[in-house]
Amino acid sequence: MHRQIDIEQLCADKGLRITEQRKTIAKVLGESEDHPDVETLHARAAAIDPNISIATVYRTVRLFEEAGILERHEFGDGRSRYEAASETHHDHLIDVETGNVIEFVDEELEELQRRIAQKLGFRLVDHRMELYGVAVDRDRDR
Ligand SMILES: [Zn+2]
Repeated sequence: MHRQIDIEQLCADKGLRITEQRKTIAKVLGESEDHPDVETLHARAAAIDPNISIATVYRTVRLFEEAGILERHEFGDGRSRYEAASETHHDHLIDVETGNVIEFVDEELEELQRRIAQKLGFRLVDHRMELYGVAVDRDRDR
């Protein structure tokens, strides 16, 4: 879904100046499959280049977000989490106990949402769907 997106290329396409530090942050983002927050991104970027400050990571993700390169999510815990924007749409299920985020696509759900919008007199252009759950197996063990 957002596997190994070339954020550096996207930056070039959007006319963003690409510095070494931005390049490193873009690389980390492109390789992340887990919707990291800024602290996590900073830890991963700093492992490559210890000179990258958290302020730079904050500025860079905001810049990338404004350029439409990143999508920002808030999965109920008030922390902003990021993933590379992709052409293919997907929704998220959040495990409320572990914070794990599972991606899914369901055509029936997509169609249902289009129909609801249509019924209300709209053509759907976007939506966000977040499901919050507890793993049933784990639930049963208690
Ligand atoms: Zn996602």
